[in-house]
Amino acid sequence: MTSLTPSQPDSAPAPAVLEAAQERLRRLGARVTQPRLCILACLIGSNEPLTHQAVIDRLPGQGEAIDRVTVYRVLDWLVEQGVAQKRAGNDRVFRFSLVEHEAARAEVHRQHSHFHCTRCDRTFCLDDVGLPAQPAAPRVPSGFAIEHVELTVNGVCAECGARVARQPDSAT
Ligand SMILES: [Zn+2]
Ligand SMILES: [Zn+2]
Repeated sequence: MTSLTPSQPDSAPAPAVLEAAQERLRRLGARVTQPRLCILACLIGSNEPLTHQAVIDRLPGQGEAIDRVTVYRVLDWLVEQGVAQKRAGNDRVFRFSLVEHEAARAEVHRQHSHFHCTRCDRTFCLDDVGLPAQPAAPRVPSGFAIEHVELTVNGVCAECGARVARQPDSAT
C-alpha cells in the first residue's frame, strides 16, 4: 500500500491510527486491550464527535465483537483519563471526541463570530460576513487578564423566522 485512500468507513482503522492509539495508551500507563485500542482508534480517526452507536458502527465487525456495555465502559474510561471528551448535543445524545480534536475545533471557532438562534438554540458560524474578527476588548477589573474576546450575536435564524412569519390561521 503506497497511498492513503480517503475514507473507508467499513474497513479496519488505518495502521497509523492504531499505532497512535497504542502509543497513547502506553503513555497513560494503561493496559493495552483490544477494545481500548479499537475504540480509541475510532476517536483518533474521526473528524467529528461520535455517538456511542457511531463508535459501534465503526468497530471492525468480525473477530471478537466488542459488546455495547464494553464500548460504554471504555468510552467513559477514556473520558476519566482525560483522553476523550463527552458532551451532550442539542438532541441530548452524548458524543465522544478526542480532547486534541476538540481543542483544534475550538481554536477554529475562536477565529470568527457566531450567531445564536434563541428559538432553536442552534449556533451558526459567521465566517465572512464582514464582522470584526476581534471585537474591541471590554474594560475588565484590575487583576483580570483577557485571553480572547468572542462575539456571539443572538437572534432568530432564517428558518425560525420563516416559521414565525407564517400566521397560524393560514397554515392549514
Ligand atoms: Zn464557528
Ligand atoms: Zn432557529
